[in-house]
Amino acid sequence: MAAAVDRTVIRQAAQNLRTGQRLLVLAGAGLSADAGVPTFRDAAGYWRHHDPERLASAAGFAADPELVWEWYRERREQVAGCQPHQGQRSLALLQRHLPYPGRVLMATTNEDDLLERAGCQNVVHLHGELFITRCAGDGCVWQRSDGADSGLSFLPCPRCGGRVRPGSIWFGEPVPPLALGRIERFRADACLVVGSSALVQPVAAIPPELALAGAPVVEINPIETPLSRLATVWLRGGAVELLPHLVDELTSATIRHQSREIDMGDAPTDSGL
Ligand code: NAD
Ligand code: ZN
Repeated sequence: MAAAVDRTVIRQAAQNLRTGQRLLVLAGAGLSADAGVPTFRDAAGYWRHHDPERLASAAGFAADPELVWEWYRERREQVAGCQPHQGQRSLALLQRHLPYPGRVLMATTNEDDLLERAGCQNVVHLHGELFITRCAGDGCVWQRSDGADSGLSFLPCPRCGGRVRPGSIWFGEPVPPLALGRIERFRADACLVVGSSALVQPVAAIPPELALAGAPVVEINPIETPLSRLATVWLRGGAVELLPHLVDELTSATIRHQSREIDMGDAPTDSGL
């Protein structure tokens, strides 16, 4: 039987996050694990004994593009068959229920589209997007959203005739400067990290930097990571189990405040996170 959720620690995490004005939510593969998308660690055992770190690389693609595409087509089909869970939906609720837009920035190293399907807005994809097919050629910028059938993956690039590749950012490739720039410009002063191994740079450096600058950092992960000791509060457990409770704590004061104002005939105003 799962251990009971410790509401005291969740309340403490919410109190800390509420002291900030701009909350950065950073989600890793563990967030989607609860929706049935395996993390790479799980996938390594499951996908025909190939190491995902070698498949998700330019060298792997150069060596055997068809094998890499086969893996990506399977992952697309698998993700298309998954539904966002309550934890992901609660993050969309968090974005919607804050007094004005742009207060919560959702960023993820996940390539899947589950946060968008849960209703989250303006998600920053730091490691690319699974359903994008783009030209593999240097200097050609053609890209399109592909379907779960990966129809575009079987065709040459319509602009230059070259080979196409998945829109993921592979191991050894830089994180898109535009995505990192959006995080920098947001100037977060609070951070919630969910389901990340806290190992993949440069994204892994963001929460420790915020913590060292004095911002509250809350981590949700069933397993200790390099971030856990630096975090203000480490909520030990799974995303689907803990996120709805944390979001409930974060939004309930705001919702109560807004409904009081609506009762009194006023428009909702800023009441803090
Ligand atoms: P990771 O696989 O390295 O680590 C996942 C983390 O999630 C671990 O620390 C694990 O303890 C934790 N976790 C497992 N189950 C959890 C749960 N139910 N709730 C909360 N946490 C849970 O993933 P990463 O740190 O995001 O980075 C690895 C790379 O893998 C990234 O570049 C990412 O692009 C890629 N990846 C993406 C997907 C996806 O798009 N869904 C899936 C697999 C891998
Ligand atoms: Zn091209």
